[in-house]
Amino acid sequence: MIAAQLQHFWQELAPYNCQLIPVSKTKPNELLMEAYKAGNKVFGENKVQELVAKHEALPKDIEWHFIGHLQRNKVKYIAPFVHLIHAVDSLRLLKVIDKEGRKHNRVINCLLQVHIAREESKFGLSAEELTELVATAPWQELAHVKVVGLMGMATFTENKELIRQEFKHLAGLKDKISKMDLPPAIELQELSMGMTNDYKIALEEGSTMVRIGTAIFGARTCMTNG
Ligand SMILES: *Cc1c(COP(=O)(O)O)cnc(C)c1O
Repeated sequence: MIAAQLQHFWQELAPYNCQLIPVSKTKPNELLMEAYKAGNKVFGENKVQELVAKHEALPKDIEWHFIGHLQRNKVKYIAPFVHLIHAVDSLRLLKVIDKEGRKHNRVINCLLQVHIAREESKFGLSAEELTELVATAPWQELAHVKVVGLMGMATFTENKELIRQEFKHLAGLKDKISKMDLPPAIELQELSMGMTNDYKIALEEGSTMVRIGTAIFGARTCMTNG
């Protein structure tokens, strides 16, 4: 079942040059191992404690993506091994990631999260804050972070046109920022957008990473866990 779903997504995404990030949050290690044995070595998680426990228990060649809201005091737990942090939305957080990257002598890849949805509750920078951060952060001091793209979550709605507009907005911001005079620490390649309900629209709008949980691992029983 999981293997078949992975196959399905790999085939569907291939023409778009888009990477599948299977989101395994709340799911037990047995299910992650099932995906691993089917050839998947990438997982997205949104809770630090859960990510650390899974990293310790599972094979070491897995790439772990942190996709949730990251608190500054928890960066240290994932800094030694995390492959990509998807949702960086402040300079303060970026500075902590840099500090922890320095301690572990590694450059930590990050995406800047942009608030593209209508809902108030979602995290992320406004378009203005994004431009401001890119233009004014002390990038020469941030030698242990690399900003490789943008991430966004569309409004949770049936309105496909609204979702499309929001993804278009994010893709447009990536183009706009890419034309700015950028420091070496910023090289925007990735657009992390699209989940189970809206990934097809995201693909059409240029997503390079879709984060898919439910369609691969089944529904999560605990809805409060994201
Ligand atoms: C849970 C989660 C996903 C996956 O959502 P599904 O609807 O289950 O595909 C994607 N991105 C983020 C940030 C998430 O928290």
